[in-house]
Amino acid sequence: MGSPADIGGADTVLAGLRRDARRAQCMTHVEPVAARPGRRAPWPEWVDPVLRGRWVAAGIDAPWTHQAAAADAAHAGRSVVLATGTASGKSLGYLMPVLSRLLAQPGARALYLSPTKALAHDQLRAVRALRLTGVRAATYDGDTPAAERDWVRAHAGLVLTNPDMLHRGILPQHRRWAQFLRGLRFVVIDECHGYRGVFGAHVAAVIRRLRRVCARYGSQPVFLLASATTADPGLSAGRLTGVDVEVIDDDGAPRGPMDFVLYEPPLLWRRPAEREGSDASGEPRGAGGNGAGENGAGENGVGEYGVGENGAPVRRSVTAESADLLADLVADGVRTLVFVRSRRSAEVVAVTARRELGHIGADLAERVAAYRAGYLPEERRELERRLRAGDLLGVATTSALELGVDISGLDATVTAGFPGTLASLWQQAGRAGRDGQRSLAVLVARDDPLDTYLVHHPEAVFGRSVEACVFDPDNPYVLAPQLECAAAELPLTEADLGLFGPAAARVVDDLVRRGRLRRRPTGWFWTQRGRPEVDIRGAGGPPVRIVETATGRLLGTVDAAAAHSAVHPGAVYLHQGSSFVVDDLDLPEAVAFVHEESPEWTTVAREHTDIRIVESTRSRVLPDVEVHLGVVEVTSQVVGYQRRLVATGEVLGQEPLDLPPRQLRTRAVWYTVTDALLAGADVESADVPGAVHAAEHAAIGLLPLFATCDRWDIGGVSTALHADTGRTSVFVYDGHAGGAGFAERGFLRIGDWLAATRDAIGACECPAGCPSCVQSPKCGNGNEPLDKAAAWRLLAAVTAAVG
Ligand SMILES: [Zn+2]
Ligand SMILES: [Zn+2]
Repeated sequence: MGSPADIGGADTVLAGLRRDARRAQCMTHVEPVAARPGRRAPWPEWVDPVLRGRWVAAGIDAPWTHQAAAADAAHAGRSVVLATGTASGKSLGYLMPVLSRLLAQPGARALYLSPTKALAHDQLRAVRALRLTGVRAATYDGDTPAAERDWVRAHAGLVLTNPDMLHRGILPQHRRWAQFLRGLRFVVIDECHGYRGVFGAHVAAVIRRLRRVCARYGSQPVFLLASATTADPGLSAGRLTGVDVEVIDDDGAPRGPMDFVLYEPPLLWRRPAEREGSDASGEPRGAGGNGAGENGAGENGVGEYGVGENGAPVRRSVTAESADLLADLVADGVRTLVFVRSRRSAEVVAVTARRELGHIGADLAERVAAYRAGYLPEERRELERRLRAGDLLGVATTSALELGVDISGLDATVTAGFPGTLASLWQQAGRAGRDGQRSLAVLVARDDPLDTYLVHHPEAVFGRSVEACVFDPDNPYVLAPQLECAAAELPLTEADLGLFGPAAARVVDDLVRRGRLRRRPTGWFWTQRGRPEVDIRGAGGPPVRIVETATGRLLGTVDAAAAHSAVHPGAVYLHQGSSFVVDDLDLPEAVAFVHEESPEWTTVAREHTDIRIVESTRSRVLPDVEVHLGVVEVTSQVVGYQRRLVATGEVLGQEPLDLPPRQLRTRAVWYTVTDALLAGADVESADVPGAVHAAEHAAIGLLPLFATCDRWDIGGVSTALHADTGRTSVFVYDGHAGGAGFAERGFLRIGDWLAATRDAIGACECPAGCPSCVQSPKCGNGNEPLDKAAAWRLLAAVTAAVG
């Protein structure tokens, strides 16, 4: 082994990985990503000469072509979305017109919105580093001291904040912001692909409220959006802002060469000799936060033993495999980042890799660390410093966004489980590559149908993105509280309703009926004393708190929607590696009382779900298949639970539960098939329930490929005969009241979506279904019945029919 400097090249690294026969078998694909030269454009003439001088002094001789194109459009007054790769310098594209204008017009103002406080602070540092005396920039967020807020309102030309603060702090007090809003020329929306689902719908409404208030003060700002590369960025940016947006997506930035490896851990057919570092209990469950997975089937014990639910084989855990990769790369002197999905996994990967490296040498083990949210800022800065200096060689971290912006130029990245979107995957891979050297990126698949699909379908990762940033600005459950906020800011007029979309008129009528708004000749007025209470990141109802009975200690919370299945009385609940048993669930108070205990069983909630069609709003009717998009009412009730032995999965018993049913009115996509189609697909009537159930599970797993959602944001129902359709039917619904746009996206891409579902099932080499294909960790029916083979034949017939 040589020093990092002479070994670091990834050619060696890839070759090294391939030399290990077991590992070579796990590599399902290697994509050589070609280097691309950069393309420069001249500085636009209108860019302030001092500003240009500062950038030139900082080593930027001229902008890349996409930066200049976006800047020219915005300068000319056209709203624009810049959708280019990670590290393509999107900020220069928006800073050119914004800062030039602030320097040219002392009364001009600009607003910068980012999804996180950290990003806004990074941007502030970047702007301040330019030392422009004519530009007063300041952040305005929850951390801004009261004394400073007056100064920001009165004097700041560039205010950096987030949508939450715009919603809660700026718009309700627009009169105090009058001067700022009157001068507002540009609104920058950074990382705009992060606004998705119900949160995205809220932000879209907040932007419309901003435009309405600006119009009152006589301004009409130009929008500059920065997005990761997604399908149709112009459509999402238009939905988010409500204005026409020009798309700039021809990336002119250079890129170094890279080998991108898709990697699938092996199946474990027998009980392995050594205990694997199972990460299952520590995994977060995505934005929907359906905590049911904490308790769900296949969570406990899987990864420790070679047998999963219903006797299915299991794969080696993504955490164990990634820790091995990290140890081997570090042993070869390769600077490596491992991206994991939970804080606990970050610790497990680091500890495991250190233990393995300890066999080679104690000094090597010292060069690996975990880096995650929750560390003190000093600790994080120290880790960043050691990583930059090359003293640390390996770091396991939770998210690319949490890392300091100047952590780049490493040799390799390992992504432990698909991070939810292709945009995040490329963001993570983009951290590797220094001085034009060949870098390495590895995506290690988790036990999940989407991951299975991706590692067997490189075109989905490296081809044109099909993943769109999805939200539904017409969701009445979002519009109603947002229109209340708008009316509380300024009375709503007829003309305003057009701004909020076609659903607004009906929602306003309903608010008048409920006494929330009052109609007067000049418009609709907010009738209440206080301001409307709206949490734009909220997810339906207050979360249920988990409290230790004996001590009163608060352990954490579970989303309201997931509480019945995750923390019912008797449930075994895992929290940060410790096991608790639920004594009581107090629904009116939203508290679950627990005590620490590690029984030898796990619990799996049994849930009945019924779905009723309220209306079909769009449909495609074919001879043997119908596809619909519409409004449904979902009724679910947790009726009991099973206790299962952790070691073998053996069912120890069934316990009934007496919990009330819950109703959800939302949007769904569904397809129905005729008996003729089933017969043609060789699916006998006895096999239909298992076929549609398996097809439903896998389809839920694959929808995130097309819509920026998480499998925990959506639910499904499948049945051999549905009362409302009279046919064999499979429903997939948005898990949030009113819908979040996911079902709509499924309807629009039904052919591609079901084809990907069919291929994910086909790609898994297990004999009769496992978590990588048709088993679901949140199934309310204990993953029974499931018929993998019949599901594949059914999906083949349906995709052939819908084309
Ligand atoms: Zn499988
Ligand atoms: Zn199920």
